Amino acid sequence: MSVDWHNFRPQGVETYDFHSGRPKETPWDSEEQIDRYVPTHCCYCGVQCGMYLKVAGDKVVGVEPREDFPVNHGMLCPKGATAYQTVNHPDRLTYPLMRRKGKNSPLERATWDEALDTIARRFREIQAQHGNDAVSIYSGSSMTNEKCYLMGKFARVAVGTRHTDYNGRLCMSSATGANERSLGIDRAANPITDMLHADVIFVVGANVGECFPIVTSWLWKARDRGCKLIVADPRQTPIARTADIYLPLRPGTDSALLNAMLNVVIREGLVDEEFIAARTNGWEETRSLALQYDPEQVAKICGLRADAIIEAARLYGRAKAAMIYTARGLEHQSKGVDNGVACANLALATGNFGHPGAGYMTLTGQGNGQGGREMGQKASQLPGERDIEDPEDRAYICSVWGIDENDLPHSGYPATLQIPAMLRQEIRACFMICSNPMVSLPDQHTVERALRGLDLFVVTDFFLSETAELADIVLPGSVWAEDEGTTTSLEGRVIKYNKAVEPPGEARRDWEIVCDLARRLGKGQYFPFSSVREIFDEMRLCTKGAKADYWGITYEKIDAQNGVFWPCPTPESVGTPRLYEERFGFPDGKARFNPIYYIPPAEEPDGEYPMVLTTGRVIYHYLSGNQTRRTPFLKEMAPYPWVEIHQETADRLGIRDNDWVQVRTRRGEMTAPALVVRSIRPDTIFIPYHYGHSQAANILTNPVLEPMMKIPEYKVCAAAIARTEQAPDWAAEVNPAVLAAALRKRHELPSASDSPRPTLR
Ligand code: SF4
Repeated sequence: MSVDWHNFRPQGVETYDFHSGRPKETPWDSEEQIDRYVPTHCCYCGVQCGMYLKVAGDKVVGVEPREDFPVNHGMLCPKGATAYQTVNHPDRLTYPLMRRKGKNSPLERATWDEALDTIARRFREIQAQHGNDAVSIYSGSSMTNEKCYLMGKFARVAVGTRHTDYNGRLCMSSATGANERSLGIDRAANPITDMLHADVIFVVGANVGECFPIVTSWLWKARDRGCKLIVADPRQTPIARTADIYLPLRPGTDSALLNAMLNVVIREGLVDEEFIAARTNGWEETRSLALQYDPEQVAKICGLRADAIIEAARLYGRAKAAMIYTARGLEHQSKGVDNGVACANLALATGNFGHPGAGYMTLTGQGNGQGGREMGQKASQLPGERDIEDPEDRAYICSVWGIDENDLPHSGYPATLQIPAMLRQEIRACFMICSNPMVSLPDQHTVERALRGLDLFVVTDFFLSETAELADIVLPGSVWAEDEGTTTSLEGRVIKYNKAVEPPGEARRDWEIVCDLARRLGKGQYFPFSSVREIFDEMRLCTKGAKADYWGITYEKIDAQNGVFWPCPTPESVGTPRLYEERFGFPDGKARFNPIYYIPPAEEPDGEYPMVLTTGRVIYHYLSGNQTRRTPFLKEMAPYPWVEIHQETADRLGIRDNDWVQVRTRRGEMTAPALVVRSIRPDTIFIPYHYGHSQAANILTNPVLEPMMKIPEYKVCAAAIARTEQAPDWAAEVNPAVLAAALRKRHELPSASDSPRPTLR
């Protein structure tokens, strides 16, 4: 059934004021000002909470959570509740910008024709001289599935380059690698509601309370039903404070911990022999390796107590149904894929797949972290999680696109390898959309050199991000409220954004920009789209019969079911909320054990750099902060970065709360105020990574890559820290009272305050 969005009213709106909760007959009636409520979803994290955008005239003026969406049930976190403020933000880009007189000239207003014709001409010139692969595409995973699909096709068909990749490479790609190696399908095994069926939930490297706040409510519901909670994290995060067992492991030692837990499970007879025999391959090799990981030895590696590891393994192993949740803490490592595989090994050994409350899944950080990694914008992928080197997949996609197979490029560089290719001048031009590597990539000084050295750098964005500041041409794109399209949530549920308003000024919808540019590159016949729905229909045809099969999904079915879980192979199918009930994703239907050796992080502390630096998110910001740092409330709550340090270490180094501290690594240095806490390991410091320029934590981080998925090791590097009298360059523009207040607020959060639970020693 199709919904008439224009006249749509959510239940209850006619009679109640949502601000006051009072009947509408009250003197102040906000309804009078609202023309329509557009049901949609939050643009930020992978939870994709349901919300209504309140529209008055041609403006989005507010937001309300949707009660009817089963994941957030009327709740939003601070980011979701303020997301609408980006739509009419005064910083929005409203016309194209170009540097007309070379790299050092200012960005000046341009017409669309001038900007797009220049891009098309320069791309053709560069490719004529240096080959098609001299131009790269760098896209994002916060875009809709339709846009992600379009970017992959644009790269291969319109530009003809093999170098196309996306910023999900920096996010969940380790989980992708683990899913591909162990389970054969790259998707969450379970819907979020499965938490309510779990006896034990094991969270490894996921700050659920801050990064996925609404998921916390499911955790509490599960706890209310008696579910036990194990948390492994170097920081005592909000959920760690209430865990039954908290394992404050040393950063980068996750696979050692998981192997030791498997060791205990084996020795204590807690493996599910029947499940292993019927549904898996490769157990013996993994079993013999795990038996070498004695908890006493591993405790020394991880900086934990052996009895805590044993206790956690028993609790997990004895559960009838247990879930493992991971996120970037486990994945942002040079052994990130191994870490994910070690989780899958533990879950497979205990038969924890294919039934309610049993599974392993990553919590995707980006809004479309799931869909973005299956729509064919990745370096080695075609739509539907198809393999670009597989002859059958290539032939099928070429038949849909109507191109000769010889014209379909092969796999190219992942995003993280595009940077060195730019430095080598192998890549000489780049079209970037929905990405901000000048905050998000490690070793920022090197990234800046690479982007500044391009012959032509084009950025499409809706704000002038730190990266757009370096571009030769900036194209003003759209925000989520100005377009329709689907995303796929961290559960694997395909949901739909609905358009509320038009883009401001001369800004255009992203897909229209890309199709226009394709026409100017002489490939318009392959991009004849006049609506997002047409892109969606071609996209789902491309996925027909593939692992990530969207063929049976329609916009109408998404509306009627409040989302559809893929695979959904036929028009009759209602989708697949829980995977692996009967078979895994490999041809024989069985999962694969893979023995995992613990290998230490690429950089370990030494005399010169005695601390471990780890980085991550805070509740008030999303990824590179390009949007949330412009949102007044979020900016007020977390205006600048800080360095979290344990009280004991701070005392030893003469550092007090709010002192300026300088952090140094082999890549660079940055200065920020200290936040002295008792909720982090004494050998570890933490900096949030949402900030740019000299506030970027990624000035410090290690660009070493995970071998399979090429994700950087953001979560572990060696660092030195010292108190300094020298305030950073940005201190001049900071009101010390604002900064102190923000840090004080941080202390008020449960994660950072002194805790009644045992502190980390
Ligand atoms: Fe929900 Fe995530 Fe948006 Fe918060 S940021 S409202 S948890 S989708």
